Amino acid sequence: MSGNPALEPLVTFVTTDYAGITRGRSIAASSYAPGQQKTVGWVPANMSLTPFDLIADPNPWGSSGDLRLLPDDNAHFNFAIEGSATPLDIIMSDIVELDGKPWVCCPRSFLKQALADLAAETGLTLLASFEHEFQLLGVNWPAAPAFALQAQRRADPFGPALMGALRDAGVAPEVFIPEYGKDQFEITLAPADALASADRAVLLRETVRELCRNRGWHCSFAPKTAVNGVGNGVHIHFSFRDAKGTPSTQDATLPGGVSAVAASFVAGILSHLPALTAFTAPSPISYLRLQPHHWSSSYTWFGDRDREASLRICPVNRVGKADPAKTFNIEYRPADATACPHLALGVIVRAGLEGIRRKLAAPPLFSGDPALLEQSERDALGLQRLPQSLVQALDTLLADKTVCGWFAPVAIETYVGMKRMEIKLAGDAMDDAMCRRYSDIY
Ligand code: GLU
Ligand code: MG
Repeated sequence: MSGNPALEPLVTFVTTDYAGITRGRSIAASSYAPGQQKTVGWVPANMSLTPFDLIADPNPWGSSGDLRLLPDDNAHFNFAIEGSATPLDIIMSDIVELDGKPWVCCPRSFLKQALADLAAETGLTLLASFEHEFQLLGVNWPAAPAFALQAQRRADPFGPALMGALRDAGVAPEVFIPEYGKDQFEITLAPADALASADRAVLLRETVRELCRNRGWHCSFAPKTAVNGVGNGVHIHFSFRDAKGTPSTQDATLPGGVSAVAASFVAGILSHLPALTAFTAPSPISYLRLQPHHWSSSYTWFGDRDREASLRICPVNRVGKADPAKTFNIEYRPADATACPHLALGVIVRAGLEGIRRKLAAPPLFSGDPALLEQSERDALGLQRLPQSLVQALDTLLADKTVCGWFAPVAIETYVGMKRMEIKLAGDAMDDAMCRRYSDIY
């Protein structure tokens, strides 16, 4: 034998779990072929894993039971990342029982079922896009102003390498932004079918992480990397198509230009939003971010182009040739990257569907500072402060029987049990050290 040892490239079947962490198992890429439904084993108690690598105790699963990861051939991404020895080759997978039925805690199956119910009951399909902010930590670059070209060029060719990798992955990146925070960047992706958008959120996070790792940089998507620093948000944009494929989010004759069905969807989300934050802002430090004047959202608030709103009507661009009806979309802002994208989008769809079922009226639009209003004025506008800690969010979730009813009881038990263990392990000190612990994980 001579020369370099041979590499057997791997394809990894991945799932992104309740902790928002992408995990999986690999087989030789050469032994995988689409359509074969080849699976790998998985363990139920994995879903009780906290971000700190300890399994919640107690948990409903214990040491017994077996599951499979079933790859979705339509969600196969295989592309080179600058500096990696082999391509990143991953397939988004569902967690299934040994007979192939979706497992009760599988977040991706939860999203698929929510989208199927939305389509069956309303004829609507959802387009979505996850917009991510993240920071580079400890890079020791010369300081650069917010949004500045020099902030971007210091990192060059990070932007081009990221855009290139995503393009090769088949994910259309749109805009690369040096953001407001220290060494903070943002990247936006073109809207896609809702399931694909959640898959792409996973892909984006892992691609950024790998690119940075290969350069010896530490990046983080944690909602706060320092208590007084700028937050890293995940803003989830969505719009609708009707059964014929016609854009149906906009109706220029209605308030905010929002169609009646989209307004009911938004009203459904707002009515369950305090409970939803337990899934979309699911770590103790998420609540350092969800504060007034952080442009992150802190009330149940429907706003027309106001970045403090929790649901924001995005602007329609009249420059150029884009069709306004196609670009019109609404953005969910109280989310961050400690959340599983499939679970976050799944609960948004479930809540929106409740709003359509109940034919809820359009929520009032508000712009300004809720703190300057009287309580009675806030009540009239439906402006309710969001939970201010994960403890509160979990209690609010358990008190919202509608939201709990979207899940099997054992799924809620698993989720809340894991999160309460995480809170215990994290401790009470909401300080920079806590932000650093989360920055190391996310
Ligand atoms: N960094 C803000 C957040 O935590 C968002 C700022 C923006 O609107 O881009 O959500
Ligand atoms: Mg931003």
